[in-house]
Amino acid sequence: MNFKDLQQFLAHFQQTHNEKFGANTSQEVELLMNMTKLTEEVGELAEQMLKYQGRQRSAKGDFNLVDLEDEVADVIIAASMMSVVLEVDIEKAIQRKVEKIKTKRWIDLDL
Ligand SMILES: [Mg+2]
Repeated sequence: MNFKDLQQFLAHFQQTHNEKFGANTSQEVELLMNMTKLTEEVGELAEQMLKYQGRQRSAKGDFNLVDLEDEVADVIIAASMMSVVLEVDIEKAIQRKVEKIKTKRWIDLDL
C-alpha cells in the first residue's frame, strides 16, 4: 500500500465513522484529536522500544516483534490521518525531505 492509498483509505474511514457515529467537529478540533492520538501512539511505540531494549518492567510483558511493528504502523497511520485533514501530499513531502537529506555532505548515496 502506498501513501496515497493509505490517505484515501483513512479519508473513507473517517467519513464512514462520522456518518455512523454522528461526529461533526471543526477542523481545529479534529486536528487536536489527531495530535492527541499521534502522541498516544508515539507513547505506545516508546513502550515497545523499552521492551525491545530490555528496559521495560516485567509486569508490562515481554518483547514481541509483531507488537513493535504494530506500533510503528500506528504512528504512521496517526500521522497520515493528520495529513488527510491538512490535505498534505505525503509522497510529495517525503520526496522533498529525502532530496534535502541527500544534500548532506557526509552522505554518500546515489539512489
Ligand atoms: Mg497503538
